Amino acid sequence: MESNLKVYNSLTREKETFRSIHDGKVGMYVCGPTVYSDVHLGNCRTFTSFDVIYRYLMYLGYKVRYVRNITDVGHLEGDNVDISAEDKISKKARLEELEPMEIVQHYTNGFQSMMRIFNNLPPSIEPRATGHIIEQMNMVQAILDNGYAYEVNGSVYFDTVKFAQETGSYGQLSGRKIEDLLAESRDNLKNQSEKKHPSDFAIWIKADPKHIMRWPSRWSEGFPGWHLECSAMSTKYLGTHFDIHGGGNDLKFPHHENEVAQNQGACGCSPAKYWLHTNMLLMNGKKMSKSDGNTITPQQLFTGDSEHISKGFSPMVIRFFMMQSHYRSTLDLTDEALLAAEKGYRRLMEANKTLQEMVYAGNANAGALDKEINQLIQKVHEEMNDDFNTPKALAILFELATKINSIKGGQLSMDDLTENTLHLLKQTYSDFIYTIFGLQDEIEAGSEGGEMVDGLMNLIIDIRQTARENKDWGTSDKIRDTLKDLEIVLKDGKDGTSWVKG
Ligand code: AMP
Ligand code: ZN
Repeated sequence: MESNLKVYNSLTREKETFRSIHDGKVGMYVCGPTVYSDVHLGNCRTFTSFDVIYRYLMYLGYKVRYVRNITDVGHLEGDNVDISAEDKISKKARLEELEPMEIVQHYTNGFQSMMRIFNNLPPSIEPRATGHIIEQMNMVQAILDNGYAYEVNGSVYFDTVKFAQETGSYGQLSGRKIEDLLAESRDNLKNQSEKKHPSDFAIWIKADPKHIMRWPSRWSEGFPGWHLECSAMSTKYLGTHFDIHGGGNDLKFPHHENEVAQNQGACGCSPAKYWLHTNMLLMNGKKMSKSDGNTITPQQLFTGDSEHISKGFSPMVIRFFMMQSHYRSTLDLTDEALLAAEKGYRRLMEANKTLQEMVYAGNANAGALDKEINQLIQKVHEEMNDDFNTPKALAILFELATKINSIKGGQLSMDDLTENTLHLLKQTYSDFIYTIFGLQDEIEAGSEGGEMVDGLMNLIIDIRQTARENKDWGTSDKIRDTLKDLEIVLKDGKDGTSWVKG
């Protein structure tokens, strides 16, 4: 199967023509969330970018197996630089006095529900690290057998220096040079004196007595290192060499670099043919970060309950906002940008509605307009084929929107179009909006359906209010939970309760 798709490969730092390893099939692995806290908007941006990539590959006709893991063990505070740091999930379980698996289940549910709210398709497989301990142990053993790891006091470390010297390939993804690696001082080791070299990393960690999650192994009772899970699970479900590996660019080093080393160290094969990295989400020009209050949750965005925004925005407006930037560019979230995105989204959906309602009433003249529209349709595809350039593809859809509105307004004549072209335009518009970008129609305020939904929601809010006044918590909880399943969020404020989809 041939396609004209080009993708930017972080491994070669070049845009390359996409050729899948097995004809017509694509294997794609994306690093999933560590489920110890609510999913944040930055995560949503990355997963939405890969959702569009997944959707587009399927649109092109590929049979895609999309694997996105859930990290539920082994991700330590400080991203595993120091193995005496606490496991993020264990820590949360300790603080909340819950079982680690309760933490994992709670945040996994929240994550999956947020993915549905943004209309991200579920992956084909969503494996959990704790469900693949045996595969990870086997990989540790294979790396040890090949001489690229060593055991100290029950922990096993990947020997980066030996691997780099023998294969010459450590650092390829992140651009780190072997000489720099060798020059790193042992002083950097601090309390990690079990390691031979600062850049070595643990692939099996002996659990200290306090550590809750632990498995018996031939080295110690312990748990696998964070980097190892992705190597083991991608190999299990996609094979030793697969098409695409993705994640945010903050994972390039050390996580992805170490994944490559582990796969090569275990079987001598380079895991992914193409490495795709998304860029970060910013807010008001700065990286979104909890520590300096520069953060906003998806719920706050939906309800408008944040000092950073003037009003709430629907999930589809936010999705549209994400499509307006390329996945390899940073995306800056500001109130003005969201307000503009809302206008843009409505204009696009309105143009689509106008177009889909158009009935052919021309006389089949393939005139200049016909040619222009066909060229623009071709251009939309070209832009998406150019490393999934959603902002440029959107810009072309807006050029087409101007034509659609002018045909409707009578400034352009349908006589200059063939019926085929109108049909193709309708198809292209709906393919791009719904199938590829994954946008959905919003319930329109003031429309017949919208008014009815508003009326029903007011009734439900009233019933809940009465139930609360009567301390009938069963009914009020049932209403809230059922609405939550329908992705409707209630917001109690000074002026009563309002609702928002998402
Ligand atoms: P984590 O749960 O922190 O391991 O992150 C899950 C995914 O979200 C990874 O692919 C990260 O690279 C990505 N990610 C984290 N923060 C951001 C951000 N601010 N913008 C975009 N992607 C992010
Ligand atoms: Zn990973």
